Amino acid sequence: MSKVLIIGGGPSGLMCGAKASRNNDVIIIEKNEKVGKKIYITGKGRCNVTNNCSNQEFINNVVTNPKFLYSAINHFSCEDTMNFFEERGVKLVTERGNRVFPYSYHASDITKALLKACLDNNVEIKYFETVVKVEKNNDKFYITTNKSTYLVDKVVVATGGMSYPQTGSTGDGYVFAKGFNIDVVKPIPGLVPLLVKEDFPRELYNFTFKNVKLTAFFKSSKKLIHSEFGELMTMKGAIGGPIALTMSSLINKLDPNDILLELDLKPALNEEKLEKRIINDIELLKKKANSNAFILIRGLVPSSLIPMILKRIDVDGSLLIKNVSQEIIIRLINVLKHFRLEYSGLDSFSRAIITSGGISVKELNPKTMEVKKIPGLFFVGETINIDAFTGGFNMQIALSCGASCGDYLYNLENK
Ligand SMILES: Cc1cc2nc3c(=O)[nH]c(=O)nc-3n(C[C@H](O)[C@H](O)[C@H](O)COP(=O)(O)OP(=O)(O)OC[C@H]3O[C@@H](n4cnc5c(N)ncnc54)[C@H](O)[C@@H]3O)c2cc1C
Repeated sequence: MSKVLIIGGGPSGLMCGAKASRNNDVIIIEKNEKVGKKIYITGKGRCNVTNNCSNQEFINNVVTNPKFLYSAINHFSCEDTMNFFEERGVKLVTERGNRVFPYSYHASDITKALLKACLDNNVEIKYFETVVKVEKNNDKFYITTNKSTYLVDKVVVATGGMSYPQTGSTGDGYVFAKGFNIDVVKPIPGLVPLLVKEDFPRELYNFTFKNVKLTAFFKSSKKLIHSEFGELMTMKGAIGGPIALTMSSLINKLDPNDILLELDLKPALNEEKLEKRIINDIELLKKKANSNAFILIRGLVPSSLIPMILKRIDVDGSLLIKNVSQEIIIRLINVLKHFRLEYSGLDSFSRAIITSGGISVKELNPKTMEVKKIPGLFFVGETINIDAFTGGFNMQIALSCGASCGDYLYNLENK
């Protein structure tokens, strides 16, 4: 029986602990008062624990280093995750986009099941204890915490990334890695709101744009980077919501000065159809008394957007409909189809769902998560330079990596 110390009680550390503890002596050291503090806020407290999809679909949703995950997802798939929780009494439900949640909509059910799987195998959990140093000497690891020191055979670093640092993920794993000369790709926020220079997110605070298209282009070459259709939200100094978060994962490694963001507020109509629609609306409105530009725009976008549109086309809302010229119509079409946003960079880690960057995958064995040059040292979950879109894929990454490492440690003892 080997002594295994896991640093961090998030989903990856708990899954690893549950698997390895079947025949190893496992300790989990967690700096918080409880395990899985981040799990409690996943999926707005409901925890989108995985995606009910095939291994290939899972891989298609991984943005950074998808190939590294082939072994891990084949070893512990989305279906295995669903079975793991259902076998432990957590009923699940699959929703839009194959997103899987606990039927109770309580993220705590996921944490409780992971914790119980550990405790059933006598995993010792140390709370309120922070690992500050990891060293290796003659095949043994020396772990120093703020309270004690430990001498163990294997160490699993499951400290997460740097997003929502108040949950305990403050990037400590990268510091331990650097101590062993392990390459760390610069961590940057992922699935994060996009900062924009305009005043409109402040003026329109907390507004949801439904059914719009967000497009990113390179400023220099005008080449398309990506388009995303769906819901967008205004926040303090930034745009958020599903399509902005997805976009962030695709542009977070690019120079913000070379990126142009554009919103299509009427994606269902091409410019020709939109022009016909506006001309038609004008003809109808001309028949009514006192019709003006404000009333015309009210028929095209939600009311709260009207002042912003009028400002952009430089028209007074009281302009009588009979005075709306062809030139104004062209300006209006342009704003509705190409609403420009001055992107100035990514929002901070405190509003990022995940961390992009981390332990270089070149350093790790993808089957076991062991550091190739430091036998006995492992990294799992969000510490690694892998990240995925929303939909339960990031939790699945944590669980697949944790299970691959935990099962490897179990199998080692069985040999
Ligand atoms: C708001 C929000 C919503 C999200 N929603 C979803 C969702 O619905 N679906 C989804 O798939 N993903 C979601 N995610 C992402 C998901 O939560 C993470 O990908 C996942 O938690 C990563 O698991 P992990 O075990 O690698 O790290 P973490 O969950 O970050 O756990 C790391 C643990 O290590 C502990 N720790 C760190 N350093 C030390 C140290 N030095 N000593 C001791 N302990 C330490 C921390 O306290 C923490 O408990 C969401 C994230 C956020 C922020």
